[in-house]
Amino acid sequence: MTPFTYVEPGSVDEALAAFGEGTRWIAGGTNLIDLMKENVERPRRLVDLNRLALDRIEPSRDGGLMLGALARNAATAYDATVRRRYPLLSAALLAGASPQIRNMATNGGNLLQRTRCVYFYDTAAPCNKREPGAGCSATGGLTRQHAILGASEACIATHPSDMCVALAALEAVVHVQSHTGARAILFADFHRLPGEHPEQDNTLAPEELITHIELPPAAQYEVHSAYLKVRDRASYAFALVSVAAALDLDTQGRIRSARVALGGVAHKPWRVPEAEALLAGKAASAENFAEAAEVLLQGARSQGDNAFKLIMARRAIVRALETAAAGTAAHAEDPNDSPGRPDLKEHP
Ligand SMILES: Cc1cc2nc3c(=O)[nH]c(=O)nc-3n(C[C@H](O)[C@H](O)[C@H](O)COP(=O)(O)OP(=O)(O)OC[C@H]3O[C@@H](n4cnc5c(N)ncnc54)[C@H](O)[C@@H]3O)c2cc1C
Ligand code: SF4
Repeated sequence: MTPFTYVEPGSVDEALAAFGEGTRWIAGGTNLIDLMKENVERPRRLVDLNRLALDRIEPSRDGGLMLGALARNAATAYDATVRRRYPLLSAALLAGASPQIRNMATNGGNLLQRTRCVYFYDTAAPCNKREPGAGCSATGGLTRQHAILGASEACIATHPSDMCVALAALEAVVHVQSHTGARAILFADFHRLPGEHPEQDNTLAPEELITHIELPPAAQYEVHSAYLKVRDRASYAFALVSVAAALDLDTQGRIRSARVALGGVAHKPWRVPEAEALLAGKAASAENFAEAAEVLLQGARSQGDNAFKLIMARRAIVRALETAAAGTAAHAEDPNDSPGRPDLKEHP
């Protein structure tokens, strides 16, 4: 690990003032420290965000919810309001990592975790994301985890987050601050496709600090939602394919509106508004879900080892939508977690 200086500011203003050349923010450290140990990240200065008062989960002015960037993934997943009003997000969080990691990992850090492409972590292998212009070792290499949608010649990596797939479906908004002011970024615009610049995972400037993630009101999706994660092990494994599905059904069981986002298939959570529009006004049937899957996966292409994802994604989309329609998926649990947590909080 390369030597670095370390500061621990007590406020957002102090944190922004401490940011300079070669600086990285650090929150839970569950991704950044690994990258530093592997020499993928070599910051000259770490600005520790853990003393900032950004760990609250509070109602927003328009009836949604504001998730503090420093709230832990576990606290967010088990927050009583999140579980009741955004069960899709709770389920996605509990499908990620392990209880220990979720206790440290923060919401802001989750959005900015880097790809799990093995070549990105291997400093002996050329990687355009780590070193622009070096080449892509994954193309023609091991591609089991890689993208089937939205890839470029420069990079075929996927975004590994579960939380982000649910946030995409819930149309979250990311609030950020820098010394020039604050701005809000729609979740669809937050992560990038790789194009010719895979070194840029997202549209955030290095000096910008995520302060909150806003969940707009989504009462229509409270009952009929599901997060399906398909992976190599039942726990502690990244998604091969994941699906966040939410349906607003009328009293006849017809679809008023739908949201579907995919994980494990692209450089960012994958959403296709046309696929969701196609479901509006239709019956919640396997045939209609399969049609939506076709539209969602238009242009999907195998990279070799990951050809199985083409079929797996289609089946997972249909199954997630069927589970959402049945309304049986709320209150997901991770069997590795301790039940009956004492810190459940209810917000008005
Ligand atoms: C073994 C293992 C298994 C895992 N499995 C899964 C999984 O199945 N699913 C899944 O979704 N995730 C998984 N993860 C990833 C985990 O969720 C992330 O490592 C975690 O969410 C990152 O959060 P953090 O607070 O620790 O971020 P850090 O490691 O502290 O930071 C990560 C990045 O975010 C930046 N950052 C942090 N906070 C802010 C902020 N407020 N504003 C601006 N920049 C910020 C940092 O500068 C850094 O670049 C796994 C991790 C490990 C180690
Ligand atoms: S897929 Fe992307 S992250 Fe992986 S080696 Fe290629 S450029 Fe690097």
